[in-house]
Amino acid sequence: MSEEEESDTSRHFIRQIIEADLANKKNDGAVVTRFPPEPNGYLHIGHAKSMCLNFGMAEKFDGRCHLRFDDTNPEKESVEFVDSIKADISWLGFTWNEHEYYASDYYDHLYELAAQLIKDGKAYACTLDIDEFKEYRGTPSEPGTNSPSRDRSIEENAKIFAEMKNGEHQEGDYVIRAKIDMTHDNIHMRDPVIYRIRYTSHYRTGDTWCLYPMYDFTHCLSDAKEGVTHSLCTMEFEVHRPLYDWFIKETNQAFVSEQTEFARLNMTYTVLSKRKLQLLVEGNHVDGWEDPRMPTLSGLRRRGYTPEAIRNFCDKIGISKFNSLTDVSLLEHCLRDDLNASSPRTMAVLNPLKLVITNYPEGEEENFTASLNQNDPDAGTRDVTFSRTLYIEREDFMEDPPKKFFRMGPGREVRLRYACLVTCTDVIKDDAGNIMEIHAEWDPESRGGSAPDGRKVKGTIHWVSEKHSVDADVYLYDRLFNVEQPDGDKDVDFIEHLNPESLSCAKAKIPTELAKAEAGSRFQLERLGYFCIDINSTEADVRINRTVPLRDSWAKK
Ligand code: ATP
Ligand code: MG
Repeated sequence: MSEEEESDTSRHFIRQIIEADLANKKNDGAVVTRFPPEPNGYLHIGHAKSMCLNFGMAEKFDGRCHLRFDDTNPEKESVEFVDSIKADISWLGFTWNEHEYYASDYYDHLYELAAQLIKDGKAYACTLDIDEFKEYRGTPSEPGTNSPSRDRSIEENAKIFAEMKNGEHQEGDYVIRAKIDMTHDNIHMRDPVIYRIRYTSHYRTGDTWCLYPMYDFTHCLSDAKEGVTHSLCTMEFEVHRPLYDWFIKETNQAFVSEQTEFARLNMTYTVLSKRKLQLLVEGNHVDGWEDPRMPTLSGLRRRGYTPEAIRNFCDKIGISKFNSLTDVSLLEHCLRDDLNASSPRTMAVLNPLKLVITNYPEGEEENFTASLNQNDPDAGTRDVTFSRTLYIEREDFMEDPPKKFFRMGPGREVRLRYACLVTCTDVIKDDAGNIMEIHAEWDPESRGGSAPDGRKVKGTIHWVSEKHSVDADVYLYDRLFNVEQPDGDKDVDFIEHLNPESLSCAKAKIPTELAKAEAGSRFQLERLGYFCIDINSTEADVRINRTVPLRDSWAKK
């Protein structure tokens, strides 16, 4: 992007900080960022914001962005999550090259640093159990109290730490705590735990370790080890910063990263917490992490989102320190913008009603020409095949239409898009009175869609030819939650706000060649929205996802 093309939102405060650092020759002009997911779930649209920032700044300033898995929690982490995270980052269009790191690769290093803290009298083994730990810690307004273990001798602490590593103690018998200040205003500084015993296999280190470093201890020391110049994280880590500074200083790190916090993405009608998304998956409220209603990148991808739409969205929302709630319709707007430019057009019918053109000869057919994308003069054209038996949308016919209804009704003339003008002559019903099919006559002089006498026909409807179409399941999605802030009220479980109508399936008729399109192919169905072929679709069992309708149906609600 050239300077002139850049949006205002891309000149955010973090970029200005980096520019100032570069001007001051800080770190010899190096820019090293990192994206540090915990492999305990799938990435979501909030992570995209962080990735666009971290990978984006590295790209912008010819630096590099590390992918580092902050994997300190063996109970919750897995290879499945690592693999999905890597696939999502690549899909979004970012590369980490050879810079793939794991905090678990630093376990020896971190152990040595903790052992040194103990030797220096700056950490100790503590026997308080979790309830006592909380009691001694105090509250934000009341100071804490020293643990009875705090004055244990250095030698004894070192011996216990070694025993912990050797599996000579049980979970909860001891934790290692940094010795800072139990009366500190910042509760994170009140002798935080840095190591705990866990007899749990780790997805990478197996059973090598039975004690694991805590996240806070690991994160900042991993940044320092990797020479991360700009450690960009979300606002909730601001209060952890003094603790990070303490770890860096007390372990004598040669390299000091500069941490800058920014506001996380919150979005209407959405929850963005891996824990909550996991509850949706485990409770079978959705069909896995990749359910097209999920705000995960894999869900959005399956739904038909493009990486460009997501990156544009991240550019538009910008980076600031103020927590806010972004309207999900902005994401949908970016999506429509991109799909409008890139999607080939075609016609299909979601809720088919048979239409027989009684004065069109049986067995005959003819092609009409339509543009593949009216907005793109270079897009080329497609053939639309017309024949005697067609399908139209049930909603496009009314037996007793009101005045303002310009589509089909008895005796009325409408335009079949790209083809011709037809007039309804008959309505065929079953014994129960249900409309089974419509009969109409076409005007052979109106080929292409207008009559030579220039008579006005207001309504235009879409259609497919029976012989040139096949059945397909089309999945229509609505918002997963029916309130703006599903997790906004502490006293109400967010699950209660699930929208019971977030998923429906239409038994559609689609053009035969569309059924052969590759999984993931995107297209616009005229008048109906943007769609894509689902990953599980086969020619025999066609499955299509509606990515987004043409217009925001919530805007008028
Ligand atoms: P969650 O709260 O969803 O569990 P997390 O912060 O624990 O997310 P991590 O795997 O630790 O998930 O996140 C990796 C990076 O992504 C972190 O730097 C984190 O700050 C950032 N991140 C997570 N959620 C958001 C969000 N909603 N907006 C912006 N950045 C986010
Ligand atoms: Mg986290």
